[in-house]
Amino acid sequence: MSLLENKIGIVFGVANKRSIAWAIAQAWKKAGATLAFTYQGDRLKENVEELAGTFGPETLILPCDVTKDDDIARVFSEVGAKFGRLDLALHSVAFAPKDALEGEFVNTSREAFRVAHDVSAYSLVAIARAAAPLMTQGGSIVAMTYYGSEKVVPHYNVMGVAKAALEASTRYLAYDLGPKRIRVNCISAGPVNTLAARGISGFSEMLKHYEAHSPLKRNVLPEELGATGTFLASDGAAAITGQVIYVDAGYQIMGM
Ligand code: NAP
Repeated sequence: MSLLENKIGIVFGVANKRSIAWAIAQAWKKAGATLAFTYQGDRLKENVEELAGTFGPETLILPCDVTKDDDIARVFSEVGAKFGRLDLALHSVAFAPKDALEGEFVNTSREAFRVAHDVSAYSLVAIARAAAPLMTQGGSIVAMTYYGSEKVVPHYNVMGVAKAALEASTRYLAYDLGPKRIRVNCISAGPVNTLAARGISGFSEMLKHYEAHSPLKRNVLPEELGATGTFLASDGAAAITGQVIYVDAGYQIMGM
């Protein structure tokens, strides 16, 4: 039997074929899961329909701006109506205004701070709260984070602070939802060349830095994030919750 056979999952954050969400969705699908996808706004509708459409007619594709409670409520109501339950949720969504990812952190505006935390951290809480009633047989919620949450990575700025909030939220959610056998974990990925990553100034330097300084002397591959996402979704990770798992070619252990 495949690892995720008979599992129903929802994926937030596919923008295009380079998205980390797409790598994990492909791995979940390959492991036997049936999936729903959300996209933000009409700009991405065609992209997501083209990609997710290849998963077959049972795939649900819905619009959702994660800053809108009504959107989140509608998505989970449609998932409930179609599948009756849910086992897996992937949160692969982040945003901060571009100027907040360029200059100095000290200049972060109140509004940029608010937006970054709303989209990139609070949304996990809102999604977990809406998903939980459908996870009647337990479940696994996975969120994407980055090392800039714990160490200063130049230019990552307010996004690092939002990722710290995301990781702390993961721990509190894991505690609240544990009695319902719902696990909540983060994957901390090394840099991957995606649309969101290209918004961080100096991103190509990050790729080179990891290649030069990580123990494995390379960058992480999207399919490796897919494999970890599948593990966390599977019963193999049944006793793992509230954790940040580093999938970064070992970079996180380095002191120099
Ligand atoms: P991506 O393909 O650009 O995915 C980011 C997604 O977030 C996009 O689909 C984006 O949609 C969506 N999003 C932004 N604001 C939203 C909102 N209000 N409502 C709904 N969706 C919204 O980039 P990615 O690199 O795969 O990022 C996925 C996750 O991985 C993020 O949490 C990111 O921080 C994390 N991560 C990335 C790396 C990396 O190096 N790439 C490393 C570690 C962690 P729009 O395009 O419409 O904004």
